[in-house]
Amino acid sequence: MVGWAIAVHGGAGVDPSLPAERQEAARRVLSRCLALGASALRAGRAAVDVVEMVVRDLETDPVFNSGRGSALTRDGTVEMEASIMDGRGRRCGAVSGLTTVKNPVSLARLVMDRSPHSYLAFDGAEEFARQQGVEVVDNSYFVTDENVGMLKLAKEANSILYDYRVPIPETCSAGAGALQMNGLPISIYAPETVGCAVVDANGHCAAATSTGGLMNKMRGRIGDSPVIGAGTYACGACAVSCTGEGEAIIRSTLAREVAALMEYKGMQLQDAVDWAIKERLDEGKAGLIAVSGDGEVAFGFNTVGMFRGRATEQGLMEVAIW
Ligand code: ASP
Repeated sequence: MVGWAIAVHGGAGVDPSLPAERQEAARRVLSRCLALGASALRAGRAAVDVVEMVVRDLETDPVFNSGRGSALTRDGTVEMEASIMDGRGRRCGAVSGLTTVKNPVSLARLVMDRSPHSYLAFDGAEEFARQQGVEVVDNSYFVTDENVGMLKLAKEANSILYDYRVPIPETCSAGAGALQMNGLPISIYAPETVGCAVVDANGHCAAATSTGGLMNKMRGRIGDSPVIGAGTYACGACAVSCTGEGEAIIRSTLAREVAALMEYKGMQLQDAVDWAIKERLDEGKAGLIAVSGDGEVAFGFNTVGMFRGRATEQGLMEVAIW
């Protein structure tokens, strides 16, 4: 028997001057999710059930970039994606291009459990959602006023955002260097992807990731979060969920890289995480959370910060940003 462990993230792109109240909101939500996951693990729930439950909770909260509060496409719409992987048997499910499904991670779970496939996208995924009877809502449910403001800033800056502050164009209404623009602080809290990695009391690992993608992305763009091996991976050795610039994470097959280092090189979890980030990932692009089948829990990122938290059966419980 190993001890259970859980790690959660709420994105790796953190502005160093993120307003205190936004930091507080993020810490509060991450602590709540950790407590939820920890109590389920204490009650003996399986890793795959726990990652789904925790990510659902994050999707329902508008603080992070998944479900309600998702980043917007250039057209101001929401296209969400998610994936889940159960290390036990290496089963997986993924979805992209969702516009009405309230909890994308649960549709990914249904793709894994009830479809003959591992990845469904756009109209076909929406149709599957209806066949399965999952809760659907109007696209406007996912759109928050704050994200509409950020999309406007991203367009003015001609930028696709995943982190940091929005560069202020000389021509913007409030003027370069102003502290506010369009009523929003310049210290922009770019909304961030969520993920969870768990090893349960039986040593089984699972991971899940969910996102609206990047602010001001092209319609049809698919990032790393639903791509198994890139944004999400789980096997007997470990479970990993990544966040950051999806294009860079896909190029480095980041989640699978950590697992491969453990499986083929016999590395410990934290060493594998550090190596993958240092050797495979472009500087300043991403981060990840991971747990091992032995009950270890690890983080790594090469951005300024990553919203993250972890808890273990031994009583560790912490939430951090920087
Ligand atoms: N990885 C996500 C994407 O590229 C964004 C994020 O992690 O915040 O869609």
